[in-house]
Amino acid sequence: MSTASNVATIITGKRVLLSSRQSQPAPFTIYVDKETGKITRIEPGYAPEAATVDAKDDVVMPGIVDAHVHINQPGRTQWEGVVTATHAAAAGGVSTIIDMPLNCLPSTVTPEALHIKEDSFRDAMWVDVGTWGGVVPGNQAHLVPMLDAGARGFKCFLCDSGVAEFPPVNEDELRKAMTELKKRNGTLLFHAEMELEAPPVSSASAPTEYQAFLDSRPAKMEETAIELVIRMCREFAPHVPCHIVHLSAASALPMIRAAKREGLPLTVETCFHYLTLNAESIPDKATEFKCCPPIRDGQNREMLWEGVLDGTIDFVVSDHSPCTPDLKLHPCCGGHGIQSKDEGDFLKAWGGIASVGIGLPLLWTEGLKRGLTLQDIVRLLSEKTAKHSGIAHRKGSLEAGKDADVTIWSPEQPVIITKEKVHFRNKLTPYLECNCLGQVNKTIVRGQVVFNADLRDSKTGGSDECFSSRPLGQWIKDPFKNGAQESQSRL
Ligand SMILES: [Zn+2]
Repeated sequence: MSTASNVATIITGKRVLLSSRQSQPAPFTIYVDKETGKITRIEPGYAPEAATVDAKDDVVMPGIVDAHVHINQPGRTQWEGVVTATHAAAAGGVSTIIDMPLNCLPSTVTPEALHIKEDSFRDAMWVDVGTWGGVVPGNQAHLVPMLDAGARGFKCFLCDSGVAEFPPVNEDELRKAMTELKKRNGTLLFHAEMELEAPPVSSASAPTEYQAFLDSRPAKMEETAIELVIRMCREFAPHVPCHIVHLSAASALPMIRAAKREGLPLTVETCFHYLTLNAESIPDKATEFKCCPPIRDGQNREMLWEGVLDGTIDFVVSDHSPCTPDLKLHPCCGGHGIQSKDEGDFLKAWGGIASVGIGLPLLWTEGLKRGLTLQDIVRLLSEKTAKHSGIAHRKGSLEAGKDADVTIWSPEQPVIITKEKVHFRNKLTPYLECNCLGQVNKTIVRGQVVFNADLRDSKTGGSDECFSSRPLGQWIKDPFKNGAQESQSRL
């Protein structure tokens, strides 16, 4: 039980970014209250003599908040559990994750289910964790009680969610839910894809080719859903902030820009995979690339980057959504008893990409080619995601009174993403062996070092030794606060 060595009471560095508004990284020293883990004061200047953590030339920034993670515990812990998910987060500079309400059992759609999740996560979190609730047909009476119990907001589906216990909602059901959310200005998150009246014609490609999957989920499905989201957002404005999760179709950006210009309380996220991968490069049978909505072509990716850089897209998350290897029907998983006729079948494989904790180097490496700055990183990964999750009063920037959640990393240091370095339970991910820039060296949660790369095994490069010996993360249940949502883009 080495608690003393974990406590970072004075953090100093030469390249500290307290918020995205700071014009450039500068030397600062951050003083932390040992008991509360809150920042007591911040002074200009690099002061290594007194420091308990000396970041030297590394960048020191507000801890990353990943607002879209599927932990799957309880119920489907073999897909992902809280210990492995929060280890993976800690190793990647992510000091807070917000869990999604589906793929765990029970789905988080009642106050009781929320408490079951809280109990299941107790004493097993290496970073701070909060959760979204879910809107499903008929559960509107549970929404306000769930907000009061700490749900950060709610997610709903406008098409099949992939799991039977979390059905989609139609316009009538949405209206019932939003009428409840209006009482507290609660946020509603939309999986924005809808079945089309005229379904896409069947693909000329074989199911083992990525194109077959891409043809089955055209951009029109996202556009149709986003039209509905904007319409509902307008109907309930300004009371129910609406949020589009994991935007993939760049063709929807013009209507999102127009809705934001109109002043609607609408926010949008995209994911690391849509900004770093493209359909043309996905090999046959490589089902680790399958997710919904799909990764589209390179031109679409460039348009998404424009949306990120001009502020139309508010922030970037992982949408970490893994499963066991057999459900991916992946060729490397033949030993898991999959039928050879199904091997590499994009249409039958589970959709979801595993990536919690590896987003920072991926986004930074691709972003550097397009003019992304360190301030953009803070804005996209920490500040805006904290606001979106209703925790900006505690997290997302470094200032006196807030939690001392800190990511310390070297943007110049090359890293190779290997199985030894990813800590989520099932290691199938599109990013293995990727060469990036950006090594996370320390992750601090409320003044406690939960990951320290200095302790890495020098022979194997493995980082199992780098984690705090105890789970130091906490369950976030601050009652939802109105006004935490910021809808203004930088247009
Ligand atoms: Zn998701």
